[in-house]
Amino acid sequence: MTDIDFGTLITAVVDEMNCTTSELFGDELTDPDLAVKRYNRNVIGRIREVFDEAEAPAPVPPTCSNCGMVLGETARFCSRCGTPLSVDAADELLADRLAKDVGTTPDNPSFRVALARIREEMPEEWAALVQKITVSAKV
Ligand SMILES: [Zn+2]
Repeated sequence: MTDIDFGTLITAVVDEMNCTTSELFGDELTDPDLAVKRYNRNVIGRIREVFDEAEAPAPVPPTCSNCGMVLGETARFCSRCGTPLSVDAADELLADRLAKDVGTTPDNPSFRVALARIREEMPEEWAALVQKITVSAKV
């Protein structure tokens, strides 16, 4: 657990104590005891939130499922072994390989048209290929 920042805690509590009648419902609007209970619950709830936020574990950076390399949040391919880290990345890799197979580049306009037609006409086959490339890269 990280330390609770008292500035954050006090700001949160003071904010929450700055209550208005618009936060009250039903009988709370006419019964001061119920209104005080509502305010108390709100303040306690807010304090709990501050503690929960402090206790939340630090986000774990993604790692490559193939080689274990620690990667950046936005990485699409492993920087060490090239494993695609998402279906989108696998899709891109597949397009790259197909382009190489037919002796062109992925940004060749007629290749893109042909690729778009394959994706549109055979979405299941394409998805299966993408899946395969993701799995084979992981092994
Ligand atoms: Zn890797």
